[in-house]
Amino acid sequence: AEHAMHRAKQLRLGIEIYNDAHEYGSGLQVALRSQLYHALQQRQFHLYYQPKVRMDSQEMTGVEAIVRWHHPDEGMLLPASFIDLVEQSGIIHSFTRYTVEEAVNQIKIWQKQGFDVPVSVNLSAYNLLDDAFIGFIADLLAKTGVSPSLLEFELTESATMVDIDVSKKMIKTFKEMGIKTSIDDFGTGMSSFAYLRELDIHTVKLDRSFVKNIHQIEKDERIVEGIVALCRSLSINIIAEGVETARQAEILQGLDCQFAQGFLFGKPVPSGLVHSLLPSMKSLATQPV
Ligand code: C2E
Ligand code: MG
Ligand code: MG
Ligand code: MG
Repeated sequence: AEHAMHRAKQLRLGIEIYNDAHEYGSGLQVALRSQLYHALQQRQFHLYYQPKVRMDSQEMTGVEAIVRWHHPDEGMLLPASFIDLVEQSGIIHSFTRYTVEEAVNQIKIWQKQGFDVPVSVNLSAYNLLDDAFIGFIADLLAKTGVSPSLLEFELTESATMVDIDVSKKMIKTFKEMGIKTSIDDFGTGMSSFAYLRELDIHTVKLDRSFVKNIHQIEKDERIVEGIVALCRSLSINIIAEGVETARQAEILQGLDCQFAQGFLFGKPVPSGLVHSLLPSMKSLATQPV
């Protein structure tokens, strides 16, 4: 707990965290860390897109942009092996600018093909401490002509917890700009309910740890039922993460959970492969997501 607090404080102060990688870092991590800057310049990071669906109709309502590193030697790397490094190396600001720019460009490509596809992008805690971030987003949207209503940011509870007042301000500004914010991995933090009260959240993403055993553990089902009811009464959308089986989907739908994301409906795939899913978007073009 002390380590976590120390880390939170460092984050707040914008100090680079150096210790983690040194204490726990493997040889590979040390190598990857030294390659990050070059990799970003060489555009080795690619966004994959995972569909989000409506429970009742199973139609796609949008996608989440999830980063992959196409490493020249190591092959495809998942974010777990490098996001921490990106955050610690001080390039997270340019990294997130890159992912948001890629996502907005992709929205524009889909629009040219006749589809309005809402895309959510994962932010890091550091991005909330970046004074120039809002300006960057405003410029990007103005430059591309992409509607802010098609862009959504995902923030984890721990990211918003670093400085709740700053988070509150940022999320409010996003909302004023027309950009939605969702809380990622909801339920894994220590004071989830405070966020619902304090922050202008559009969607809660129910962490997949609650979904995993929902078909076996009665307690999990009751907890989800409560969270869904709470979100509904606060007019916050709720999407279940990590839905892998039809049984899980059936139970979630029975609990009135509106939206879902997970391998059952589709894994994260390159933009080209989202194409076959797009026609189901058409009917949703005028529906709020
Ligand atoms: P997340 O935002 O919660 O993203 C969803 C993660 O759950 C992805 O893992 C996805 O592949 C995985 N997932 C989706 N459906 C299922 C399922 O049905 N079963 C299981 N077992 N897993 C499922 P991934 O790609 O490893 O990403 C991990 C985390 O890395 C993300 O969690 C997000 O917090 C972070 N991340 C991803 N892209 C970015 C990014 O561009 N920027 C930042 N800052 N973080 C990112
Ligand atoms: Mg996410
Ligand atoms: Mg998530
Ligand atoms: Mg998650």
